[in-house]
Amino acid sequence: MIGLISATAAGAVARDRLAAAWPERTRVYDGPAGAAVRAAFAECEQLVCFLATGAVVRLIAPLLADKASDPGVVCVDEGGRFAVSLVGGHGGGANGLAAEVAGVLGAAPVVTTATDAAGLAGLDTLGLPVEGDVAGVSRALLDGVPVRLDAEVPWPLPALPLAPPGTAAEYAVRVTDRAGTAGGREVVLRPPSLVVGVGASAGAPAEEVLHLVEDALREAGLSPRSVARLATVDAKAAEPGIVAAAGALGVPLVTYSAAELAGVDVPHPSDAPLAAVGTPSVAEAAALLGGGELLVPKRKSARADGRPAMATCAVVRRPVRGRLAVVGLGPGARDLLTPRARDELRRAAVLVGLDQYVDQIRDLLRPGTRILESGLGAEEERARTAVAEARAGHAVALIGSGDAGVYAMASPALAEASDDIDVVGVPGVTAALAAGAILGAPLGHDHVSISLSDLHTPWEVIERRVRAAAESDLVVTFYNPRSRGRDWQLPKALAILAGHRDPATPVGVVRNASRPDESSRLTTLAALDPATVDMMTVVTVGNTATRRIAGRMVTPRGYRWQGEHA
Ligand code: SAH
Repeated sequence: MIGLISATAAGAVARDRLAAAWPERTRVYDGPAGAAVRAAFAECEQLVCFLATGAVVRLIAPLLADKASDPGVVCVDEGGRFAVSLVGGHGGGANGLAAEVAGVLGAAPVVTTATDAAGLAGLDTLGLPVEGDVAGVSRALLDGVPVRLDAEVPWPLPALPLAPPGTAAEYAVRVTDRAGTAGGREVVLRPPSLVVGVGASAGAPAEEVLHLVEDALREAGLSPRSVARLATVDAKAAEPGIVAAAGALGVPLVTYSAAELAGVDVPHPSDAPLAAVGTPSVAEAAALLGGGELLVPKRKSARADGRPAMATCAVVRRPVRGRLAVVGLGPGARDLLTPRARDELRRAAVLVGLDQYVDQIRDLLRPGTRILESGLGAEEERARTAVAEARAGHAVALIGSGDAGVYAMASPALAEASDDIDVVGVPGVTAALAAGAILGAPLGHDHVSISLSDLHTPWEVIERRVRAAAESDLVVTFYNPRSRGRDWQLPKALAILAGHRDPATPVGVVRNASRPDESSRLTTLAALDPATVDMMTVVTVGNTATRRIAGRMVTPRGYRWQGEHA
């Protein structure tokens, strides 16, 4: 919940705007500002104070405990011009909140956390538990002092400007699931790399299960903060001791059917679980089901009273899953790049793409991003590279203009990809849509895109599709319409359409949509001069109902209420 506090009439106006925009997320604290701030500080995860920063500093100073638990506090000035992230920039989410509040109120966000200012990923914002000298190592990263990466466990982190492996460096970022405290000048990141399989007889006490798991981790030298989940058999999904142990460790409990578990090859099968739940192994099989390395083979709980053990557990280090984001950059203009695409570019440690597209977004990348750019062609190589980097455990962004799934890199990449990586697609504004918005409303009824490039597709196939589009009266957008070596395909395709459409049918030609040298023109099937079309262009041909209205290309939706066009 976000607590909202104001003192003046102007502050209350801005406060009410925010409350109206976020009714579910906010609560207004009325009354004297001092008491309101104290109450909100105790009850909310975040505060937005429509008060001077000085007043807020004085009010919250005695309340501050530490940055892991304090709420994030944002101040908005009387004039509603600035949203200032005051405390809890990272841990309390105040930096992000300042940006959001600024968005609603039309204010400028003010963020002073150094790592955000320099485009660095904050070490405490990577989504992993972090230990050690966060401030010291962050400062070293900012100051350009060499920081080493010791990745004992590969994990798909965002880019950090780290010294190359083997470089002597005083500071280190260690990625490990091994127990132990961070040294000086060191940050330890805890990847969720461990899966603990557990089995229990009915009624096994929670402490017995929890102690078993904790002992197993401690004796194997593993950090409980790297446990991703507990795993067991479906029949034990509600076993109170297991549920309580997962709760105590703060991890989800996942369950599998006995049949699935019985199919896993384990070192220590036994008859007891086979008789009880129908699989020769629960703990080892549940831990090993997704693959990985068995670090702690099955062990049983110890009972002080000498009665038979009621719980078993096993620990597996799961195989790292790299991350492949396939990101569409839109047609060119920065404000047609989606916020999600921007986030994914900043989430990546490795960027793969055509050099001209890399140039389009280079300034958005985090310092330390490894850029693998290549020239035109080389598509399969780019796809293979992106997948190989993801399989090595990296966070990879594979970029394409427009939508990366439209005549672009998504399909060759996913044709290469195996199911051992996570794939995230980010849609982009494809050229047909960017052009449509410039031309008017040419895609108001059924439409199709056809690429005229016969590099990978035989011309007979392309021609058959153009013919089908012509016969079925679809609006057609031609991608890759014409290049220096390919000049007869467009006239041929237009001739096929002209066999079924009036010579006066509107045709829109858009070159470099949303780029600085954008140009567009509305002509007709009969008047279009193919020589004016190149590879930076899309050509949209209307259907038999498309009209030129007030200089714009409009395809009626075809509903009866719109009436018949003459
Ligand atoms: N993935 C891209 C398409 C790649 S194919 C997308 O979704 O838009 C390349 C063709 O797309 C070009 O030959 C051209 O026909 C078209 N194209 C891409 N960007 C364009 C733009 N900004 N303006 C006009 N056409 C564009």
